[in-house]
Amino acid sequence: MNLSALILPKVLYLLATANRRLYWDKEKIQRYQEKHLRSVVRYAYNFVPFYHEKYRAAGIDPNDIKRIQDLSKLPIVKSDEFKKQVPSQLVSKEFEIEKLKKVSTSGSTGKPLVVHINRSEDAWRKAIYMRANISCGQRPRDHWVVLTAPCHFHDTTGLQRKLGIFAQTVVSLFESTDQKIRQVEEARPDVLDGYSSSLLLLAKVAEQQNLTTIQPRLMFGSSESIAPRSRRYLEKVFGAPFYDQFGCSELDRTAWQCPRKQGYHMDVDSVITQFIGKDGGEVALGEPGEVVYTSLFNYSMPFIRYAIGDVGVPSEEDCSCERGLPLMKVVEGRQDHLLPLPNNRVLSPLFFAHLMDYFKYNYNVEQYFLRQRKLDFIEVNIKKRTDVVDDQTMASELKYYLESNFMPEESYGVRFEVIILDEIPIPKTGKLMAVFSDLKKDDLK
Ligand SMILES: [Zn+2]
Repeated sequence: MNLSALILPKVLYLLATANRRLYWDKEKIQRYQEKHLRSVVRYAYNFVPFYHEKYRAAGIDPNDIKRIQDLSKLPIVKSDEFKKQVPSQLVSKEFEIEKLKKVSTSGSTGKPLVVHINRSEDAWRKAIYMRANISCGQRPRDHWVVLTAPCHFHDTTGLQRKLGIFAQTVVSLFESTDQKIRQVEEARPDVLDGYSSSLLLLAKVAEQQNLTTIQPRLMFGSSESIAPRSRRYLEKVFGAPFYDQFGCSELDRTAWQCPRKQGYHMDVDSVITQFIGKDGGEVALGEPGEVVYTSLFNYSMPFIRYAIGDVGVPSEEDCSCERGLPLMKVVEGRQDHLLPLPNNRVLSPLFFAHLMDYFKYNYNVEQYFLRQRKLDFIEVNIKKRTDVVDDQTMASELKYYLESNFMPEESYGVRFEVIILDEIPIPKTGKLMAVFSDLKKDDLK
């Protein structure tokens, strides 16, 4: 039997226990969080060089971290600082790095990070992920079609496919739009899932072509926030409710809409989410703050007080669905702007991020920044990690890679120029970004 198939019973077991926690009261959830928090902080201090050095330098005794409010004693780790570390600093000494599953994150900042997880953590992630979808009405044998990057092709194991339990049909976002439509039609989705911008493009074509063959019962969108009017448009075209999900690629989804849509339920029994103000303390309920995550399940590569640069609002309301997981609100306007391209096409910035993940010298890219100068011309700025690949080779290989993978069948006719820099300039907004367009056209809808 394929070894990876063994993960399914584990996921189903974790899912059953995670479902029970949905209806725990606040005190019970807090006791659960604190037990796991104590364990993960102590573990990180003992086995992960990055945290050990950081906490020692700050004079922190991990045994002092007992309650949720003690979290404020721990320094916040900016994702930028994290990404500068070599894997051996971030991964527990108890694990062999080569044997861990690697999840490459693209994100929106242009600084890639490889997250290492072990098999139990992978099962946990999947269970927590499924809990939200099931809460919105997904059933085990639904045809579940996901528009995503090909790295997720392996997320469904052979056994899941055989049994048809929560088995995904993955449609690559690198396919041409016509291909995507055809593959989605063939898969007859009950559940249509994936990057919101990809779903939006699909809806646009479905509407233009008067397609009635795609009739999902539910839709989930993730990885990018799209405007409320775009969500309504999706619901109109496909005639099904759309549920938005929030998170980061390092920790997967961390908050989600239930059918009541009164906010986003946070998976706080898996990842503690704090909202931090300018003074470094937590903001009041209803106030916006920087999202800071502490994962309660990542041991092979812990994330403790990890700030990704996103902003959210802790909600003062309880959801009428009676699930105990607290609500947050997502700040509108953080949606990624779609890039206009020749022939009336548009593309999500995340497309480039995923494309970069597959570049053969990606391991040597410390940071990149794509700037669209003209409709058909994109400048790619690269900061290398080391000099193992010379500038000339790096630049010409990347240019060739981008141009040959840029959906040639759709003849975008977009040219790329690659420039190797010592430093990528920080934009005036101060917020790092991976893609910027000089053409000020915005959203699709
Ligand atoms: Zn709810």
